[in-house]
Amino acid sequence: MQSPKVPEATIKRLSIYMRVLKDLERKGVEVISSAELADICGVNAAQIRKDLTYFGEFGVRGVGYYVKELHFDIRKVLGLNQKRNIALIGVGNLGRALASYRSFTEHGYVFVAAFDVDPKKVGTFLPTGVPIEHLDELPRVAREKHIEIAIVTTPAEAAQDAADAAVRAGIKGILNFAPVQISVPEHVKVKKVDLTTEFDNLVYHLSSGA
Ligand code: ATP
Repeated sequence: MQSPKVPEATIKRLSIYMRVLKDLERKGVEVISSAELADICGVNAAQIRKDLTYFGEFGVRGVGYYVKELHFDIRKVLGLNQKRNIALIGVGNLGRALASYRSFTEHGYVFVAAFDVDPKKVGTFLPTGVPIEHLDELPRVAREKHIEIAIVTTPAEAAQDAADAAVRAGIKGILNFAPVQISVPEHVKVKKVDLTTEFDNLVYHLSSGA
């Protein structure tokens, strides 16, 4: 869908623009100047223009951007105009928190299944009503519920097992919150979210005054 030349940093900023535009749309703002949009997004106007040129012509000279249209277009560019079925693997505290995060649903990410290996958890439900099933059921459920993405929130030592199960189930995208590197075949994409590293980085900047 998107050209492979598009830098990762641009994709990340598009996600920020999208959130800001959504908020503006909700507030009833119809048009925004590129300088204002840049200001709210914390970047400069040239950067926004450059990021958008990867995908076509946006904005009107002397006017700025039409909020609703640009929001729609960026969603399309990011492939977000369709719902994505998500499986949660590892229903601990972090997993539960993520599964109830409303913003995911608003962005089209729907938790349709949850998996664990703890017999005390298997057979119970998430607060949203989604059943918690044994990890062994993943291939069947993934097929039945058209699951595209797995979120791994197991302890580090179980993450590779969880990822292997997801790969066997034909899942093509994994968001890994476990603090460990997992290996997958080339056709599967993994994004790692390491919250502890983020903290370490923040603390480094606080203590170095940088
Ligand atoms: P809790 O105390 O409720 O277990 P927690 O956040 O402390 O919460 P963790 O030890 O981080 O739990 O584990 C997260 C979840 O991952 C747990 O529910 C655990 O049962 C589950 N888990 C462990 N190994 C696997 C595995 N191989 N596959 C799927 N889930 C697993």
